[in-house]
Amino acid sequence: MMRVQWQRLWSKWMVAALAMVALPAAAELRVFACEPEWAALAAALGGDRVSVDTATTAAQDPHYVQARPGLIALVRRADLLVCTGADLEAGWLPLLLRKSGNSAIQPGRPGHFLAAEQVRLLAVPERLDRALGDIHAAGNPHLALDPRRLLSVAERLAERMAAIDPEHAAAYRERLAGFRNRWQAAISRWEAQAAPLRGRRVAVHHPTFTYLEAWLGLERVAMLEPRPGVPPSSGHLAELLEKLRAEPVDLILHASHENARPAGWLAGKIGVPALALPASPGGSPGVGTLESWMDALVADLLHAIGAEG
Ligand SMILES: [Zn+2]
Repeated sequence: MMRVQWQRLWSKWMVAALAMVALPAAAELRVFACEPEWAALAAALGGDRVSVDTATTAAQDPHYVQARPGLIALVRRADLLVCTGADLEAGWLPLLLRKSGNSAIQPGRPGHFLAAEQVRLLAVPERLDRALGDIHAAGNPHLALDPRRLLSVAERLAERMAAIDPEHAAAYRERLAGFRNRWQAAISRWEAQAAPLRGRRVAVHHPTFTYLEAWLGLERVAMLEPRPGVPPSSGHLAELLEKLRAEPVDLILHASHENARPAGWLAGKIGVPALALPASPGGSPGVGTLESWMDALVADLLHAIGAEG
C-alpha cells in the first residue's frame, strides 16, 4: 500500500517537474549569447523559434565587460545561455549568473552551454599560472575563429536546443543540416582563396587569431603582449623591434577592439602593414553574419599581403 502511494507520488512529481522545465509550445526559446558569434550561430540554428540577446558587440573586448543591470535582466529571462567559456568571460559572467537568480542557466544545467567545452582548445598551458597575469590560463578561448571548430560547436548547440525545446527538435536538426551544407562549402572556398597566406609570418598584439593562424597556415613569430592580457611595455616593444629586424614578418595583426598603437608603432618601424581584423561578426559594415565575417577576414589578410584576386 505504502509502495503504491509512493509510486503515485513519484510519477506525479515527475510530471510536474517536466512541466516546469519544458518550454511552453508557443513560447520562443530565449537565448542569451555572450559574444556576437554565438548570437549569430543561435539565430542561424533557431530561426524564428528563438529570440537572441547579446552581451557584447564586436567593438568590445569580451575579456573585459561590465556586469551592468541591463545584462542581468537579460540573463534572468533566458532559457539558454551560450558563451565561449575557457575563462574568456571569467571577469563578468559569474556575477551575471549569480545576480540573475535564474536556475535554468547555471553551470551544469542544460541551459548553460559553453563552446570551449565542445572542442579541443589550443595553447592549453601545462600548469595554471594566472599569477603572471595570463588571462588564457585555461587554453586559448578564441575558438570561433576556426570555422571547423565552429561547425562542431553548431552540431552540439543544435542538440542542446532540441533538448531544451523538444517539441521543435526536428526544426533545429533541419536548420543544422542546412547550416552544415552552406558552411562546409564556404570552408572549402576560404581554404582555396587563402592558399597564398600559407607560410606567411605574422606578429600579433594578443593571441586573438591563434585558431585562424593555425587553420590558414600563418606562422606566428612574435606577440606584442608579453603574456596574454598583459599590455606591451616600451621595453618589450624595443626588444621585439630588434627581433623583427633580424627575422622579418609580413604583417602585424591586432583585433579591431584592441589598442592599435603598439602594432602601428612597430609596423611603422619595420615597414610592414599593421592590420586590424574584426574578432567577432558585426565589427564593420557588411560583416554581420558568420559567413560575411569569415569572408572579410580572408579578404583583408589577402589584401594586406597584396595577394587578392
Ligand atoms: Zn584572449
